[in-house]
Amino acid sequence: MALGTASTRTDRARTVRDLLASGEQSYSFEFFAPKTAKGEHTLWNAIRRLEAVSPTFVSVTYGAGGSSREGTVRATERIATDTTLTPVAHLTAVNHSRAELRNIIGQYADAGIRNMLALRGDPPGDPMGEWVRHPEGLDFAIELVRLIKESGDFCVGVAAFPEMHPRSADWDTDVRHFVDKCRAGADFAITQMFFYPEDYLRLRDRVAAAGCTTPIIPEIMPVTNVRQIERFAKLSNAAFPPELAERILAVKDDAAAVRSIGIDYATELCAQLMAEEIPGLHFITLNHSTATLEIYENLGLHQRSS
Ligand code: FAD
Repeated sequence: MALGTASTRTDRARTVRDLLASGEQSYSFEFFAPKTAKGEHTLWNAIRRLEAVSPTFVSVTYGAGGSSREGTVRATERIATDTTLTPVAHLTAVNHSRAELRNIIGQYADAGIRNMLALRGDPPGDPMGEWVRHPEGLDFAIELVRLIKESGDFCVGVAAFPEMHPRSADWDTDVRHFVDKCRAGADFAITQMFFYPEDYLRLRDRVAAAGCTTPIIPEIMPVTNVRQIERFAKLSNAAFPPELAERILAVKDDAAAVRSIGIDYATELCAQLMAEEIPGLHFITLNHSTATLEIYENLGLHQRSS
């Protein structure tokens, strides 16, 4: 019993940097902080089911505009204390002073959390609206990378954009700013969702050509219902494949058929990426486990955890 507890603690305190350095492809899941008791129940149901396949790490998003601050801190701390999982806490600079950010980083440190994803975030309301820095805050994610690194022995991840960040003027500028975040201390990156493998590979090659070797983990979003087609494209600016939209819309009244097309597409995307020596796959779960577990099984990954 005591031994089990000790080993759980050691695993949890491991950094994503060390886990990626093992050379094995990593498999990880993203959750968001729920706002209701029902949402909390759904989240923990998903966490417990996904814990069973021993993911490399899991991450918890920070609500747009810093809206889920308490919820994110609470959920991430509970993952750290009540599960065998290695948590990564997302943190954004939106509406926070440096002092507030230091305070949140301190709370994570106290809970034994070593991994954070440093993001600038988007203006609340309209993600493409004018960015207004908190008077005592930060302008770009690179400053948050530095702040977290100064605050303790943290492993820090950053965002990457296979279709270029929508605010970047051109590819060269986008890649330069990404590489700067890595040189400022980022240990790994996770991409925005995307639907064509070549978008990821193009970004990876551009970053490598700039002399940067930071591992970039592709993020996968399985489409499981018709409403998501428009929602995802809007949220992420990702080009939604017209042929996939067409196939889904052709069966739009048959929820099981829609789901099955979305899961098959995501499985094929993962398989193509896995053939390309990617560092791992990060699945957006939307706090549900079934779609992710189906893809996991389709790819034969469930055998890895048994
Ligand atoms: P930055 O790296 O600061 O880049 C923002 C823009 O500024 C880019 O166009 C960049 O090229 C440019 N730029 C960077 N540095 C400079 C500079 N020195 N001078 C001029 N321009 C510069 N949002 C949330 O609210 N909560 C989350 O939990 C969350 N999780 C995410 C997880 C992932 C994997 C990804 C990909 C995104 C996530 N986001 C989240 C969204 C993210 O906050 C937005 O996409 C945001 O617009 C960009 O954040 P960033 O950290 O990449 O910003």
